[in-house]
Amino acid sequence: MASSKKKDLKSSGPKDSNSDTNDEDKDELCPGFRDVDAFVKHGFGAVLSATKASAGLPQAGDEYDFYRSFPGFQEFCESQGDKLLHCMSQIMQHHGCRSHMRDRNKLTGLEERFDLVVDSNDVILERVGILLDEADGVNRSQQPVMPAGFQPPKIVVSSWNRKCLLWAEFKKKQYVRSETFRLLHAKNITRPQLKFKEKVDNSNTPFIPKIFIKPNAVKPLPSYFTNKQMRKERPEDLDVPAALADFIHQQRTQEHVDDMFAHPYQYELDHLTIPENLLSKPEPQMYKPVAETKLSFVDTLEDLVALNEKLCKLSEFAVDLEHHSYRSFLGLTCLMQISTRGEDFIIDTLELRSEMYILNEAFTDPSIVKVFHGADSDIEWLQRDFGLYVVNLFDTHQASRALNLARHSLDHLLKHFCSVDSDKRYQLADWRVRPLPDEMVQYARTDTHYLLYIYDCVRVQLLDFNHGQPGLLQSVWNKSRSISLKKYVKPIYTEESYLELQRKQKKSFNTQQLTAFRLLFAWRDKLARQEDESTGYVLPTHMMIKISEELPKEPQGIIACCNPVPPLVRQYINELHLLVQEAREMPLLKVRKDEWQQGGCFGGVFSPLGIITSMFEISAAQMKARRIIESFENPFRMESSNAGGKKRERVDSEVGDLTPKPSKKLMKSAEKPQKTEVTPQDSFKPFDYSQSDLKVFAGNTSKDNTQFDPNRQKTPKGQKNNTGAGNRSMSYLPGKSDRGFRHNWPKR
Ligand code: AMP
Ligand code: MN
Ligand code: ZN
Repeated sequence: MASSKKKDLKSSGPKDSNSDTNDEDKDELCPGFRDVDAFVKHGFGAVLSATKASAGLPQAGDEYDFYRSFPGFQEFCESQGDKLLHCMSQIMQHHGCRSHMRDRNKLTGLEERFDLVVDSNDVILERVGILLDEADGVNRSQQPVMPAGFQPPKIVVSSWNRKCLLWAEFKKKQYVRSETFRLLHAKNITRPQLKFKEKVDNSNTPFIPKIFIKPNAVKPLPSYFTNKQMRKERPEDLDVPAALADFIHQQRTQEHVDDMFAHPYQYELDHLTIPENLLSKPEPQMYKPVAETKLSFVDTLEDLVALNEKLCKLSEFAVDLEHHSYRSFLGLTCLMQISTRGEDFIIDTLELRSEMYILNEAFTDPSIVKVFHGADSDIEWLQRDFGLYVVNLFDTHQASRALNLARHSLDHLLKHFCSVDSDKRYQLADWRVRPLPDEMVQYARTDTHYLLYIYDCVRVQLLDFNHGQPGLLQSVWNKSRSISLKKYVKPIYTEESYLELQRKQKKSFNTQQLTAFRLLFAWRDKLARQEDESTGYVLPTHMMIKISEELPKEPQGIIACCNPVPPLVRQYINELHLLVQEAREMPLLKVRKDEWQQGGCFGGVFSPLGIITSMFEISAAQMKARRIIESFENPFRMESSNAGGKKRERVDSEVGDLTPKPSKKLMKSAEKPQKTEVTPQDSFKPFDYSQSDLKVFAGNTSKDNTQFDPNRQKTPKGQKNNTGAGNRSMSYLPGKSDRGFRHNWPKR
């Protein structure tokens, strides 16, 4: 194999452009592969299939226990486990890391071994980071790690609101790169947010639908949405004193609260009936070969209007979206693919973000079926980014479930019905890249090209499966309908958000560590909103935990906990240092582990015994007393309860506030900050922009010697909400829990 590949060495590879290495060197670099790109492609494919295989294993709990009861399965697991451990040890040894992976006797050793893996990953990734920097011409050793206060920060991460002067320049320089490697690690992509006509709203306030005209309405759109002035008007725009402006604004919006949080097409969806012909057996209409199908790129308003007109004449079309979540707080829909029976379209939704709403005419037309595969996230993204809704959805993922197929991913359906081998390698590519490389275009169109044919096939099977009775097919229509009724819920930061994440770590923290974790969590959420980055980009969870555990005395110690050091951590190292210092000032108490684990609520208080006692176990008076004592002990501690409704005075001591505080939407402490569906209107108090709006961030420059004081913000309005919020870590080293938390990714 190696020899045949050697012949191709002359063909391009990533190394060609910036190195003068000869063919021999290349050969040694990736033996058996044409070039680095081919090697990376192969490696990435292997990793993906391994991940997929591991996801297919029986789930922990009943499923796994059941399988475990078969000796054959048990033996297989053990031998594979040994192999894996051996493999891992070898890799770790190769990189000079500690590796006592094979000692399986100690039950307690699991955590320790996990730490070993994390440490080794850090070492390896640090090395990768250094090499990548070197390849980019950056010499790491020239960047001494110093707290920002000691020397001017070298890395200036520009705020998303700032205009990029060199935009035109950047645009000119964009060119197609076809290497998978670069796409997955795309470093120099200009932030698409910069050219959005409407700025992203990362404020800690509930999401309000973007819709302002409602095509295909049976029930008209409430006046709140049609009245542009009311929608756009912010208290600061009123020509009256600030306090009065807030009051007027609150009074006005209060009247509309129900409308503001309702699904704009609730009525239409509730009254949607699937016509007879869609419940009877169709004649599957074969897809056209990709090569014979016209593909159109849509990146102008004219083209979008034309597409909409075309779609409005059809009886069905297929839709899919591609999304990016690492370099944005809420996430960005980067691409929309649409396939009709005869054509494929790819819409640049970064370019047409503010115009996409016109598609509502086709998307909400009940006589046109919109076919998606696994639409759960898509439905939310459509609302969040474009104000688009879907009336008459058919989700092939739901069909696959109803049919009880072996797997429910799109690749499986493609294989099963179309004998197409799809390559999901680009699923997690950076879809912000422009112009889109050809491989990504091909990948994207494959996601919708065959979907209408699959839609036909599954309908036939759903009817056959049920002896011609429409019940099963009807149930898929119903499931699809309830997916289109999903409402996008914005991540809301509450003072309890961190506990949800802490609980998942299965680590016991002492009071200082927990305080650090809480402060870092708040800092990360605040900065992520401000800079429009994901929380995982600002500070990945595993680093946050490491800092909390180690509570470094010096800024350098914090840096040492992070491998590689996130740019914003480097930039705000002084602020982080002060947070850790603050945590270290907490009285040191041990936290009993079992209490943590069961603790659905951190209504916990620090008892004199040094044990966190559940809020339920002590009287209200005791609780109050402890709170008072505690507030003396640490005046900077954030409120963790709004039980009495009365807030402690804010501490307004520091000057030079670096960044505003995330607004505190309090929850009842006995309430679990959970994934439970809490409709915003249950508790919504009109916005108080003076607290939550990010306008305060706008002119914010780096002032290094200030401390983030979560208490310095005005008392917030009581509010409970979906607290998925800050837990949404999208680190490039994603913990399983991080990824899975907000989106339960349907299997694709
Ligand atoms: P798809 O529906 O497969 O085209 O995926 C749409 C988008 O969802 C992709 O562009 C990714 O951003 C995201 N996505 C899909 N699968 C995953 C996953 N397993 N983890 C994280 N993001 C995913
Ligand atoms: Mn999709
Ligand atoms: Zn897709």
